[in-house]
Amino acid sequence: MAVIIVTGGAGFLGSHLCDRLLERGDEVLCVDNYFSGRKANVEHLIGNPRFELIRHDIVHPLYLEADQIYNLACPASPVAYQYNPIKTIKTSTVGMVNVLGLAKRCRARILHTSTSEVYGDPDVHPQKEDYWGNVNPIGPRSCYDEGKRVAESLCMNYHLAHDLDVRIVRIFNTYGPRMDPNDGRVVSNFIMQALRGESLTVYGDGKQTRSFCYVDDLVEGLIRMMNQDEQTGPVNLGNPVENTMIELARAVLEVTGSSSELQFDPLPQDDPKQRCPDITLARKLLNWEPTVDLKTGLTATAEYYRKTQLGD
Ligand code: NAD
Ligand code: UDP
Ligand code: UDP
Repeated sequence: MAVIIVTGGAGFLGSHLCDRLLERGDEVLCVDNYFSGRKANVEHLIGNPRFELIRHDIVHPLYLEADQIYNLACPASPVAYQYNPIKTIKTSTVGMVNVLGLAKRCRARILHTSTSEVYGDPDVHPQKEDYWGNVNPIGPRSCYDEGKRVAESLCMNYHLAHDLDVRIVRIFNTYGPRMDPNDGRVVSNFIMQALRGESLTVYGDGKQTRSFCYVDDLVEGLIRMMNQDEQTGPVNLGNPVENTMIELARAVLEVTGSSSELQFDPLPQDDPKQRCPDITLARKLLNWEPTVDLKTGLTATAEYYRKTQLGD
């Protein structure tokens, strides 16, 4: 049994990770300031003697003991991370230093969750780990993109300077139950709109692409990456199946049985046109690839929203 810290553990991905680690028999210290996460995501774990919920903001130092640290703390949806952009940058920079300092003192292995956003609006497709990206350093997404780029640099430099045992993953769009229904991400928006019979808000012409990975697959990838001894990374984790937003909207209408219309709204500034991971490295290093197809994952997510948001 290992003692494992999960920062951002009350968030969407973090709460699923806590579930899986506890199932494996680990002890989990979940650290979260509830900025974009919710206690409700981990409510079912309270009372488990191997689970501890700690309200803490990683921008401030934290002193705990652990064998491993998963660093997920950072708002992930554009609406959430642009709500307080300076706080978002502080979390990925000052907060990252604190979590690395903690890992260094405990000699703990740390896995940092970076993002496909480090590739910005990419001009290379699909994106491989050795692509350096195309990021606007002063645009509305920069608090997130550039923060995450600094965080990766900090991880590599702690690894090189202090021989810290670091793992970096770059996560591509991931969805599933416990995504905040109001966080403005496309999957949560479309499903909630479809369930309420409202129009689905497609931004731009809807031809921009993303690749959507189901949360269970992603969490499996995180755990495999943490527990391999060969590479620091970064390693892409995501679904190589690429969909346009119109295709996604149609899939949501199909799985929810909704007859909502599509409504075309303006495209936000700096919205990446195309995004798709090259997961050759994850396949080779981790023997990992997504197993849940889009319709199965959307059905499970819609079911969750029906139960928790609509009271069905
Ligand atoms: P989320 O917003 O649901 O979870 C993030 C959690 O971090 C929340 O519980 C939030 O309250 C907490 N948090 C934020 N700032 C904090 C701080 N300063 N101190 C302590 N806790 C803090 O988002 P998510 O989708 O679960 O994302 C988790 C991680 O994965 C993030 O780092 C995100 O950048 C990364 N990621 C996610 C996706 C995705 O599609 N879900 C894609 C790429 C990267
Ligand atoms: N830190 C922390 N918890 C620890 C150890 C360090 O939060 O258990 C923070 C502390 O704020 C420190 C930062 O991490 O300033 C970086 O630590 P490091 O040891 O790298 O550098 P220091 O600033 O202590 O020289
Ligand atoms: N999007 C959309 N309608 C929405 C929300 C988002 O068409 O209601 C689009 C958005 O412009 C982007 C894509 O869906 O092109 C994915 O957006 P999301 O915020 O989920 O993630 P990210 O842009 O960070 O990949």
